[in-house]
Amino acid sequence: MKQVGVVGSGVGGLAFAIRMACLGHQVQVFEANAFPGGKLSEFQINGFRFDAGPSLFTLPHLVDELFTLANKDPRDYFNYTRLPEVCRYFWEDQTRLCTLENSADTAHEIAKILGENEKNVHDFILGLQEKYQIISELFLENSLHQTSTWFSKKAWNGYLNIPRLGMFSTMHQAHKNRFKNPKTVQLFDRYATYNGSDPYQTPATLSIIPHLEYNIGAFFPQGGMIAITQSLHQLAQDLGVQFHFNEKVNRILCENKQAVGLETAKGKYSFDILASNMDIRPSYQQLLPDQIQPKRLLQQEKSSSGIIFYWGMNKQWDELGVHNIFFSERYQEEFKALFTDKTLSDDPTVYLHISSKVAPEDAPAGGENWFILINAPANQGQNWDELLRLTRERVIQKISRALEEDISSYIVAEDYLDPRRIEDRTSSSGGALYGNASNNRFAAFLRHPNYRSAIKNLYWIGGSVHPGGGIPLCLSSAKIASKLFQENA
Ligand code: FAD
Repeated sequence: MKQVGVVGSGVGGLAFAIRMACLGHQVQVFEANAFPGGKLSEFQINGFRFDAGPSLFTLPHLVDELFTLANKDPRDYFNYTRLPEVCRYFWEDQTRLCTLENSADTAHEIAKILGENEKNVHDFILGLQEKYQIISELFLENSLHQTSTWFSKKAWNGYLNIPRLGMFSTMHQAHKNRFKNPKTVQLFDRYATYNGSDPYQTPATLSIIPHLEYNIGAFFPQGGMIAITQSLHQLAQDLGVQFHFNEKVNRILCENKQAVGLETAKGKYSFDILASNMDIRPSYQQLLPDQIQPKRLLQQEKSSSGIIFYWGMNKQWDELGVHNIFFSERYQEEFKALFTDKTLSDDPTVYLHISSKVAPEDAPAGGENWFILINAPANQGQNWDELLRLTRERVIQKISRALEEDISSYIVAEDYLDPRRIEDRTSSSGGALYGNASNNRFAAFLRHPNYRSAIKNLYWIGGSVHPGGGIPLCLSSAKIASKLFQENA
């Protein structure tokens, strides 16, 4: 039995702790915050409950898998339902569109409202499944840093299909070639933001993202997104994992290019195996300052961050659903502002999530809990106070135009998050939501691996390393890291 120390209890850290405990090892998790979950946490204001970070839950089987691995029934810990509606879209010219769980119905709506050929849209969505399978097996489920991955049968299948995967054109170009209405292009381009990237730069390979929502489903966990953290934390505890909250790790201790323990303000701890769920940049800079830094990997462009407004509203709107998008009229300029000018557009796309639509207990009677996310650049010392003020005004104006009434007077509780706060609260470099951006075709290869022989016995998990950000990929990073551990053992 090995002694395993994990730095951080984000969803990746929790998943790795569970996997190592399932293999029979003694695991201790050190968390700087007083609570588990990192970005996947919650808070309350005046009777309104808010999930602080993620609001969209896809690929729930990746969470279930952890319970099954531990010989537990996932439903004893965690339940979720598939949402009949995926997202309601609003454009400034009052065009409205709702995408639905059934891909045929979604294609029908897009054809009816945006004038697309229904079969073309449906074929596009169905065709994503096969591409996703290839990409997932090659890029998402295995280490890219092992020769065995590149010589596997699945890899050869991937090579043969490279021309179809869109590595050499941008996502926007691919959608523009396929659809006639710029609104349809915008709708599918938006999926680049699911990993914090720019559809005008990111390779068309990432066009597969809508597959998750339309061919598998958008889900809502009973109890809110926080139920993912709570159930994984409970499972880890049931498996004997020990948690040290409010105990920030200051150093990972190394001897002869091998991780041997960690140090916190309370003292030194020895371990056989270490894992860092802390963002890769501060991990090297703060925890491993004396080790050789993989400079090229650490300098990669960060994904977008966000400005988030949490508004308790004392009114309900039938026009709104669980997930809503109010599109910018100048989408390309919005991404130029984010990734070139490193600021926010004056007409930003606004995402509004209302969990109280499906969980009425999340808001007082007659009210709604609004979670509003606006993509923002990663923190580089911008004047965030001013950007927050301007963005708040613009969001109020934009939603008020769509709902045809001034929404500001209904805000009765309020809080916010910006890139500085995200960085402070989770140590994410620049407050990036998803680690690195995927704005070039080599991005997948330029994420830090889940294991490097330069520092033996140290594994890397979470959104800033391979295969990337978002809950499913963080869970995948833990799976790949534990597989690498078993191969190394
Ligand atoms: P993190 O959540 O980054 O947590 C890292 C943990 O490590 C933190 O708890 C931190 O306190 C701890 N830590 C760091 N340094 C130390 C140290 N030195 N010592 C001890 N502890 C330390 N994903 C989706 O799938 N769907 C969404 O809808 C979605 N929306 C998002 C919206 C927002 C506003 C945000 C912020 C993120 C969103 N994401 C979404 C992304 C998703 O939340 C992240 O990719 C994922 O939760 C990151 O998990 P992680 O394992 O990398 O750990």
